[in-house]
Amino acid sequence: MGDLNTAMIEKYRNRFLKEVEANVEEGEWVKMCMQCGVCSGSCPLGKFWDHPPQELFMMIRAGKREEVLSSSSMWMCTSCYNCIVRCPRELPITHIMHGLAHYAARLGLAPKNQPTAKFAQLFWDNLMQKGRVNELKLGLNLYFMNGAAEGVKVAMKNQKIGLGMLKTGRMNPMEAFGGHAVKDLGGFHKVLAKAKELEDKRIAAHSA
Ligand code: SF4
Ligand code: SF4
Repeated sequence: MGDLNTAMIEKYRNRFLKEVEANVEEGEWVKMCMQCGVCSGSCPLGKFWDHPPQELFMMIRAGKREEVLSSSSMWMCTSCYNCIVRCPRELPITHIMHGLAHYAARLGLAPKNQPTAKFAQLFWDNLMQKGRVNELKLGLNLYFMNGAAEGVKVAMKNQKIGLGMLKTGRMNPMEAFGGHAVKDLGGFHKVLAKAKELEDKRIAAHSA
């Protein structure tokens, strides 16, 4: 991760906008932002972020690489799409937020212990095992993601909810022992491998 970050700094030498255009999903749209601030004003969570979307785009254009990529702001995007439907320039803001978060994670610059980043990794690992999300395992992993003591505390706090789900058949305890997979798990992995191949090609074409 650290090596990739060093290679990218060397390759783009302070041309952070170009780096974003080449490596971040929908990053080529950032230059179209006219800084009207509608997205930040429309974002239900923006006021709690260090840098709402319009500010992040301004910082990208100003070359503030470190501040943008180590920010926790884009990790808090809930994909509500308020910004996208209101942006007068029709920027795919939501996708750029997730693209920035993903790129920061690839470079090893995502904030340590950022809860959404942790959840995203747990969700992905869970999904890859069986081609579907095992909700029981995901829930348990979430409870225990900050250690055993914290996990027991959270589990105790939520025991009523868990019991209710068991009683109403919304949770199958047998799923804790492996769980069932999609019919064609090999095919599922092939689809993802193909998607990765296409994404790598797209990045290579932009970087050329
Ligand atoms: S609404 Fe669109 S044009 Fe306005 S600041 Fe946000 S991204 Fe830029
Ligand atoms: S999609 Fe994300 S960035 Fe856009 S308004 Fe919703 S939370 Fe904010």
